[in-house]
Amino acid sequence: MPRQKKQTPDEFRAELAKYLQFLKNQPEGFAYYNKPTKQEQLDTLFAPYKQCTQCPLGSLGRQNVVFGDGNPEAKLMFVGEGPGRDEDKQGIPFVGRSGKLLNKIIEAMGLQRADVYIANVVKCRPPNNRAPTPQESSTCTSLLLWHQINIIAPKVICTLGASASQGLLGADTKIGAVRGIFQELDGIKVMPTYHPAYLLRNPSEKAKVWADMQIVMREIN
Ligand code: URA
Repeated sequence: MPRQKKQTPDEFRAELAKYLQFLKNQPEGFAYYNKPTKQEQLDTLFAPYKQCTQCPLGSLGRQNVVFGDGNPEAKLMFVGEGPGRDEDKQGIPFVGRSGKLLNKIIEAMGLQRADVYIANVVKCRPPNNRAPTPQESSTCTSLLLWHQINIIAPKVICTLGASASQGLLGADTKIGAVRGIFQELDGIKVMPTYHPAYLLRNPSEKAKVWADMQIVMREIN
């Protein structure tokens, strides 16, 4: 290894002054270390759970743990119930029929799917598309969803349907009573609305979801 030339005291003082000037030029709150990006933090969060068996859904035939999709810097996050068959197969949330309708809703809001972040209360497919049990929901939420939300720190979360609304806002939440009204969750506004699967069965309810999305758009713009 080449030997380093020893610094003179003047050279040392000049280098120190340059460094102090550099620190002075940084914005308030600047911390001089390489903070991981939100995507890196999400990857770190997910890594130990790729084969998760912390709740019964881990051994009921799921193929993939469906962690989340989209922009980790998003101002708007959608939270659904849990992966269905297509999501389980592809490892991506909301890619089946409900997902196609959700994409249309997002585009009608003037956004792209890549602008928002999409996740579910439970990350593994419940068999026969049953709703997750309260225990499955609370296990997965405390291991993953809360941390995902903390990392992404969206301005607004839109909960899709009863399971998502109850998973984030409490088991007593009645979607019919809170739909369209902002709820508060640790400084984040939560807009409960109907699940796209419900809209596929009840198309006449689409207008209500559209009204909810207009309130969301006003908040994030
Ligand atoms: N329904 C959900 O709640 N989540 C998905 O990812 C797909 C369908």
